[in-house]
Amino acid sequence: MSKFWSEAVKRTEPYVPGEQLDIPNLLKLNTNENPYPPSPNVVDAIKTELERKLHLYPSPGADQLREAIGAYYNLDTSNVFIGNGSDEVLAFSFMAFFESDQKIRFPAITYSFYPVYAKLFNVPYEEIQLNRDFSIPSEAFFQSEGGVIFPNPNAPTSLYMELDMIKDILDNNPDQVVIIDEAYADFAPGSAVSLINSYDNLLIVQTMSKSRSLAGLRVGFALGNPQLIQALTRIKDSFNSYTIDRLAIAGAVSAIKDNEYFKDTTDKIIKTREWVTAELKKRGFHVLPSSTNFLFVSHYNYDAETLYAKLKSQSILVRHFNKEAIKNYLRITIGTDENMQALLQTLDLIMAKEK
Ligand code: PMP
Repeated sequence: MSKFWSEAVKRTEPYVPGEQLDIPNLLKLNTNENPYPPSPNVVDAIKTELERKLHLYPSPGADQLREAIGAYYNLDTSNVFIGNGSDEVLAFSFMAFFESDQKIRFPAITYSFYPVYAKLFNVPYEEIQLNRDFSIPSEAFFQSEGGVIFPNPNAPTSLYMELDMIKDILDNNPDQVVIIDEAYADFAPGSAVSLINSYDNLLIVQTMSKSRSLAGLRVGFALGNPQLIQALTRIKDSFNSYTIDRLAIAGAVSAIKDNEYFKDTTDKIIKTREWVTAELKKRGFHVLPSSTNFLFVSHYNYDAETLYAKLKSQSILVRHFNKEAIKNYLRITIGTDENMQALLQTLDLIMAKEK
């Protein structure tokens, strides 16, 4: 604490991202990155841009990328906003749509950046308890005072909420913005994108960090009614004209356009997910039915934090959250089949020794 700190700095409790350890041969299953590299076209596009255009500022709105995403989703460019990672889009959304005298709602177990933004931007909030099976009780989000935000599928639970329930939440918050954070929707049975033209209070936030293998490039986006998009643009243009650099725009455009590669890698991850789920269940793990690129698991006989530490000592990093309700769970990112085979073998060794 320093006398020079503003009130905003004092009240902020920064988000702590998953560990990024620099250990050789580390198997990194802790931040839900994609185990496959991005489409080869992405690298080509970045190289071309790098050689020709680096002396010029990028498009302030990343317009080429807005067009590509609009075309991909059959939406107008005016429905698309681009941000420096979806975290930035989420931060701008808190500023654009939530007030300091109206409580917003989000689940008690969810993406831990939401309370951080709420404190930073002075937005009061209510945390809604999940059902016993970790599903989100949709009615608890009806008639919110200041708005709603949650991921679908939720993180870290990996559970998907059906679109009918999303519609109910939207119908019961006609004067508030409902933000659906679809960071993992490409691994799920559906997306609320089809609802954009029917609901002026729906903002969808997506990322290119997971299904598009571009966590290192920092590109996220929002989809919604043009008036919501304008609000986000007004915030961005009052903060930084050029949030997305030329290399990121070029790479992200190529990633969106290479649908075949995207489908291929996403299908592979889903297939691996189903296989590892069955394998972990055979070993006595409770595995929540995942609609994401990660699993949320616990074991009746083995303490999650101990398993986390033992895996780490064998150079396998998974995520453990020190939060009472989920302290006996681990979140494990889906890697390649080989990665997951290594995880299973190591778990078998750890569990054999513990017996
Ligand atoms: N939302 C959720 C639910 C996430 O898990 C993440 C990844 N940590 C993000 C948003 C942010 O992703 P990014 O900033 O890489 O787009």
